[in-house]
This record gives sequence, structure tokens and C-alpha cells, in this order.
Amino acid sequence: MELEKIKGIGDKSKVLLNTIGINNVEELLEYYPYRYIEYKVNNINDVKDGDEVIIIGKVDSVPLVRFFKAKLNSLTFRLYSNNKMINVSIFNRAFMKNNLTPGKVATVIGKYNEKKNTISATNILLNGVVDGSIESVYHLTSGLTNKQLTKYIDTALNMNVDVNDNIPEYLSLKYNFVKKKDALHKIHRPRNIRDIKEAKLRLIYEELFTFMFKINYLKFTKTKECNKVPKKFDIREVQDFLSSLPFELTADQKKAIVDIEKDLESTSRMNRLLCGDVGSGKTIVSVVASYMCFLSGYQTALMAPTEILAIQHYDNIRKLMANTNMRIELLVGSTKKKDKDIIYEKLENGEIDLIIGTHAIISEKVKFKNLGLVITDEQHRFGVNQRNSLRNKGELPDILYMSATPIPRTYALTIYGDMDISLIKTKPSGRKEIKTIIKPESEIKDVLYMMLEEIKKGHQIYVVTPLIEESESSEINAVTEIKNKLETAFNNKVKIGLLHGKLDKQDKDKVMEDFKEGKSKILVSTTVIEVGVDVQNATMIVIFNAERFGLATLHQLRGRIGRNSLDSTCVLIGSKNNKRLKVMEESTDGFYITEKDFEMRKEGDLFGVKQSGDMAFKIADIKRDFKVLMQAKSDSEQFLKENVINAFKNYENYYKIVNEIKSLD
Ligand code: ADP
Ligand code: MG
Repeated sequence: MELEKIKGIGDKSKVLLNTIGINNVEELLEYYPYRYIEYKVNNINDVKDGDEVIIIGKVDSVPLVRFFKAKLNSLTFRLYSNNKMINVSIFNRAFMKNNLTPGKVATVIGKYNEKKNTISATNILLNGVVDGSIESVYHLTSGLTNKQLTKYIDTALNMNVDVNDNIPEYLSLKYNFVKKKDALHKIHRPRNIRDIKEAKLRLIYEELFTFMFKINYLKFTKTKECNKVPKKFDIREVQDFLSSLPFELTADQKKAIVDIEKDLESTSRMNRLLCGDVGSGKTIVSVVASYMCFLSGYQTALMAPTEILAIQHYDNIRKLMANTNMRIELLVGSTKKKDKDIIYEKLENGEIDLIIGTHAIISEKVKFKNLGLVITDEQHRFGVNQRNSLRNKGELPDILYMSATPIPRTYALTIYGDMDISLIKTKPSGRKEIKTIIKPESEIKDVLYMMLEEIKKGHQIYVVTPLIEESESSEINAVTEIKNKLETAFNNKVKIGLLHGKLDKQDKDKVMEDFKEGKSKILVSTTVIEVGVDVQNATMIVIFNAERFGLATLHQLRGRIGRNSLDSTCVLIGSKNNKRLKVMEESTDGFYITEKDFEMRKEGDLFGVKQSGDMAFKIADIKRDFKVLMQAKSDSEQFLKENVINAFKNYENYYKIVNEIKSLD
């Protein structure tokens, strides 16, 4: 159903909704809150010093507004509640003055200071709230408020939208799940915590069941793909190439190469995931795979998720392969039309052996003479369906996926159930360990001093700050503020680049390019630094509000540095007592860190922030919801087995899903 069907949604708001991935009413309904606020109203007579409180009362004095610096003002007034008078103060709400006239009811949320008999408020609501009521908080984009989005969703909930229910009825009955429609009501507008629990469990199960169904279906069809022409090559030539390298491969790299060799030489098609931490040396393994493919007379396509990464691969791989006869080309969006046409022609004539680029290389236009191998880097960026469309380019090319998400084996075996897996667990020796230190914000001066030292040595620095969605200052404000502060701290003598999600692609690439070339010394960004970007000269990363990041993200971010023999340092700005930050201080081993991450994420973290993980789930989190995942896995296996015979005739949704997957063939 089109978004326009909803009252209040016009062209402008439609564009805003599109930017957060909502393109129709169904998607609006599946845009779940990421957090809830529960209003437990306090009695002012029962609260203690330092308590976070919610107090409803009547405004008892005309609010007083004071202006300080350009962007700072304060508003204070008296509030009468439960026969007691208290003071309320709040920053930057001067605009509320006219609404808070004496006699008006207001709800004040904030911290109580007993000595001053004052609430330092973080929020003031006009009107009272119902005790125990729950507010849903959604991820937003600038220009769209929580109030607006809430209204749109309310309207959608009250319309007769035909929502897809992907749980087969017998399973719904077995687990006593609430109906999909009720679940949507409960997840968006819970009346109590039980509502959230019920809805979440059902929606998570549904999402994981559908996901595991697709994986199982792919696995099921894969075992039938056995008619590939095996690749033939002289392994001695590969060995010669390996001994020409300036380093010795690690045991895990060697093992992965043997796995791949066997796959290529077999009659069944390779469908392998190469999983290894950042810096573990996956690229060389994939290069060897492409070399084997070349020796057998086939072409290889290597795809990276972004243009920057593709260019980086191209530069590195050309150096590595300089002594071979392999013909290597780069094909990205910014390649000139004239050059593109030449490349298309060469690919079709078989005059290119390895083509490196973004996803565009598998577009319809590109024809290969004899594509034998497709390699995709940072696999987790692509969804299940895209995974399959890859498998269907060329005449059954072998497929190698690379992922830098170190993931415990049991999880890998489940979520990548349709693939074989090679793990690279150890990093090449001779690397310097990255030093990690936790610094509270109050000691920021030390950090600035350390930064200055690095810059004096000619090194470069990443500075990262998380997106803080609820805050009034937008993403751009947050990074710009840090950039300005740093510029002042370094007397405007250090060139600083700024990277954030609102930049368009060209500007982003330009900022990255300047940093790579050393034109800027510091790069301030939200987490948009591309996974896998390699700036060898960067020796320091400073992560602000580090507590707000998940362990996996922190680990990925830290992987941006320590890419050569120089000493490098990761500074986490946050509390020394934070458990997750401590794990980061303890170890640089990605597998250990993910293991810890999995342990720390417990079920029942109902009000917690859903971490944006490596998989695009709307509500499930494979770490937190591991038990549900395993249940969904076995349920979907059985469901598949029982219904594949009659092509899911009794299950319209699954009939559609299967056909969607098949149509990619
Ligand atoms: P990633 O797994 O993150 O893609 P890369 O393949 O980019 O890692 O490797 C990181 C760096 O380590 C590269 O500069 C690469 O040349 C180097 N490297 C790879 N394997 C080895 C090895 N066995 N010994 C020493 N250096 C290696
Ligand atoms: Mg890589």
C-alpha cells in the first residue's frame, strides 16, 4: 500500500520516510521502535537526593528565562505537586515559556537535588502522563520527529492493511503466538511490558524463521548444483607464485588455499566463506584463488561493497601480481564511459583475467567470456537474495565470499548454513599489538597531547563519534563540533577532514581520498569509515562516547589502525569501569571479543538499544536471540522438508519466497 494513503503524508514526508528505508505502509508497520520510555510517575514526597524522577504538577510561577552564550539558555519555574513546592530548571527550552503559564499541568523528567529542592530536568511534557504508560522511540532522520512518525504509524495501525504473516499456522499454535496484527499493535503501542515481550518474541521468531528458511532452501538447492566443469591447473605454478611473495603464509591461510584448490578442482560448485579478522590476510588468499582460476583459463570478478575499497584492492593486487601474466582491470562507477566500453569489450573477448570493482560488475550489461570465479569482499553487506543472484552469473562460476566479522563457529554454521567455511584465526606474525587505553572525558587534555605527538611524527589519526539520535543536535552538528574543538586545540594548524552520512558519495570519496593521500591529518567521522579502508600511516584512533558502540563495531573501528610496523594507539573515551571497554583493553583478538560480545548480550534486554549489527534484521539480533535462531533453524528445516515436495502449495507466502529465489536463476 502506498504511503500517500496515510493522512498527513505528503511529498516531503514521503522523501524523509524513504531515507530511513520506509517505502510503503507495510514497511512503515515493520519499522519497530528501537527503545521504549516507561513513565513511572513518582510522588515528590518519596524521592531521594540524586533520583531520576518523573513528577506531575502544576506550574506555580511565571517561568524565568536567562540567556548565556549564543546557543545556551535556561528556563526555571516553580512546580506544585502533592502539597509540595519544588524548583525546576532546564536548558535550552526558552521556547516553552509561553506554554508553561501558572496553573498548567506539566510532567517534569529529570534528576532531583534535595539540598536545592530542584529538579534539573532533561524533558518537560505539557500535560500529565499516565502512570506506567510507555512511549515508543524510533530511529529518526533530521526533519522527521518522533511525534510525527508515531502519528503515521498510529494511522497505519488503524487502517486495514493486509500484513504478511510468515509463520505457518501449526507453528503459531504450537508456540501460542499472538496474531501478527496484534503483535504490530503491541510492539508499537504497548500498554505494558508484557505486550512488548509477547510481540517481540513472535516478531523475532518470524524474522528468523523466514531467514533460516531461505538459508535452508539455498542449501537444499546447492547440493543439486553438481555439474560444473572442474578447473585444471599446475599447482607448481601456484607454489612458484607463493614463493615469490615477500612473506610466508600463515598456517590458516595455507589451509584456506588448500580448501579452495579442492573446490575449484571439484565438479561441484564452490560456495565458500572465507572468514577472518581484519588484517588476517584474506586478500592474498583470494588472489591465489583468482590465480588458480587464471591458470585454468577462466576469468575472475572481485567485488567490493564500495568504490574506495575496490580501488584499494586494485592497487594492492596489481602490486602482488606484478610478476605474473594476469591482466587486471578496475571497473567502478566513476570509470569514464569510454574506458568502460573498452573494458566491457575486453571482458567479452576474454582479454581481462581479473576484473575488480563494485557490485556494478555483475550488472546485466557486463558479459564475460568465461567467468570462472566470483569473489565478494565484506560479504555481510549483501543480503541473502543478492547472495544468490551472484551465484547465477556466468556458467556456474565458483563463489568465494570474504567476511571480516569474526564469528564463533556455531553461529557461522547456522547463518551461513548454505556455505562451506574457511576460518583464518591467527594474524600474520610480526605485527605490533595495538595499545588500547580508556580515558574519561575529563582527561581529554592528555588525549589531545597524545594526538599532537602523533601528528608531529607525521602520522595520521581517526576520530570517531557515534550518532546520537535522540539529541537535538543532528549528526552533522556532533561531528562539526568535535572538528571545531580540535581545530581550536591545535591552533588551526592541523588539517582536519570531516566525514558523515549526510555527505553525498562524491564528497565522501573526496574526503577519504584526501586522508589517504595525507592531505588531511585527522579524519573526524561518525561510524561511516568504510570497513576495510587501509591508510597505513594512520597510527591512532580516538573514539568518543565509546560506550555507545557495540563490541563488534569497536573492534572493526580499531582495525583501521595498526596496519604496519609502527606503534599504534586506540583511545576509548568513556568510563574505566565499563565492561565492554575493558574487554577491548584486554584483547585485540576478534574471535575472543565476539565471544565476549555474545556472552554479554542477554535475552530480556527489553528496553535496550538494538545494536545495528552485521545483518539487516528489523528486530532480531542473532547474538541476543541465539536460542530463538536455533529453534527457527530446526523448525524451518522440517517445514522445508515436508512442503518442498508439493512446492509449498499450501503456503502462499513461501511459494512466493521460493519463486523469488528461483527467479534469480
Ligand atoms: P584482510 O583480511 O583484512 O583483508 P589483508 O589481506 O588486507 O587483510 O592483509 C593485511 C596486510 O597483511 C596486507 O598488507 C598483506 O600484504 C599482509 N599479509 C597478508 N598475509 C601475510 C603474511 N602471511 N605475512 C605477513 N604479512 C601478510
Ligand atoms: Mg580486506
